[in-house]
Amino acid sequence: MIIKSDSLKINTNKNFEIIDITSLVNELISIDNGIVSIFSKHSTSAIVVNENESGLLRDFEFMLDNLVSDKFSYQHDRIDNNARSHLKSFLLSSSECLPVKNGKLELGTWQSVFFIELDGPRANRTVTLTMVGE
Ligand code: ZN
Repeated sequence: MIIKSDSLKINTNKNFEIIDITSLVNELISIDNGIVSIFSKHSTSAIVVNENESGLLRDFEFMLDNLVSDKFSYQHDRIDNNARSHLKSFLLSSSECLPVKNGKLELGTWQSVFFIELDGPRANRTVTLTMVGE
């Protein structure tokens, strides 16, 4: 068994942005078979797996905006005015642990890995990859 690690730096351009990182992750995978943890080191971002279809991605943004309404006031806004960004991140996940087969992510036909920016634009968002396998 071997353990390897690497990281991605991501610059975002909008307050809410969905970035398909599937090919970037595949380029960094350095095991043949095993699992890879894909982890975002930020509390106003997320890592998700879903379909890269433009209408669906707009629906995803619409859903999050409705789940975390701007009609209310939030305690954390007293500190740095980004409570809704954190709350959307609470609903999602900071990481995904995915299978690796023959040196690539073993995803379904319609699946992609996304980095979700919830409080951009930001420079140098860091996503770590931890690979365990052979
Ligand atoms: Zn904050």
